Amino acid sequence: MIRHLLSGGDVDADTATLILDTATEMATVAGREVKKLPALRGRTVVNLFYEDSTRTRISFEAAAKRLSADVINFSAKGSSVAKGESLKDTALTLQAMGADAVVVRHPASGAPHRLANWVDGSVVNAGDGTHEHPTQALLDAYTMRSRLGRLAGLHVAVVGDVLHSRVARSNVLLLSTLGAKVTLVGPPTLIPVDIAQALAPGIGVSYDLDAVLPNVDVVMMLRVQRERMNDSYFPSAREYARRYGLDVPRMRRLPEHAIVMHPGPMNRGMEIAPEVADSPRSTIVEQVANGVSVRMAVLYLLLGGNNL
Ligand code: ASP
Repeated sequence: MIRHLLSGGDVDADTATLILDTATEMATVAGREVKKLPALRGRTVVNLFYEDSTRTRISFEAAAKRLSADVINFSAKGSSVAKGESLKDTALTLQAMGADAVVVRHPASGAPHRLANWVDGSVVNAGDGTHEHPTQALLDAYTMRSRLGRLAGLHVAVVGDVLHSRVARSNVLLLSTLGAKVTLVGPPTLIPVDIAQALAPGIGVSYDLDAVLPNVDVVMMLRVQRERMNDSYFPSAREYARRYGLDVPRMRRLPEHAIVMHPGPMNRGMEIAPEVADSPRSTIVEQVANGVSVRMAVLYLLLGGNNL
């Protein structure tokens, strides 16, 4: 097993399958009256969040607690980080406290990689800038596998603000490893030139959502990340929704079995219409539930837990 999980490209097909299979076992714990396993008793997991998060932070906390680990939640606001303490000094503090795993979210791409050089424990990237978010890709793969029964050969359209999306990058890497076909769809301003080839061979690019929809098994809508935009990438929110928003008429173009995904948080009415987000094809709530099982599997396997 790998020591850190920093990128969707860190796991080969066997490791990814082991994580997904372990997550399937972990999911049975959620159905029990006592939702707890002793596997990581006595181990310490630190959640180090320098950027806002709802789902991911709660999900990692729930995952570590269900495995009986001691959990320390550290958020940059209200800590010495606000006084200018560097990431390295924070890392040394965590090291001194004996953290077995550090789950880190940071606005700077590459921060988790730096951290991995400074601590003895395992580092899990919970989102670094516009770069990667590997556990999101794993929970997305888990959701696709449980809804559609397989990953190899699936055609997945990843739609929208690819430029700013760490979810897109990690998904492209992992899905390619697992044998799915990926097409990136969005306005040319939000699909970086050469990104497809740079990430993995065989990735498709299209600027025409209507043309792609009838041919996919999965459509993954990305949030338009206005907080990371310091330029105007499209004329208006209305125009964006008209060309690239998934509304009900567009959803009808999908094959009957196809599913609709979104990592959250959603801009309802922009990249996704509320009726689509709440439709039976949507896996958005399932993705959140699956996130806990997948993060349990990741922590368990990285920390070499026992007593499963
Ligand atoms: N929650 C995801 C992330 O942190 C997606 C998003 O923010 O749009 O990357």
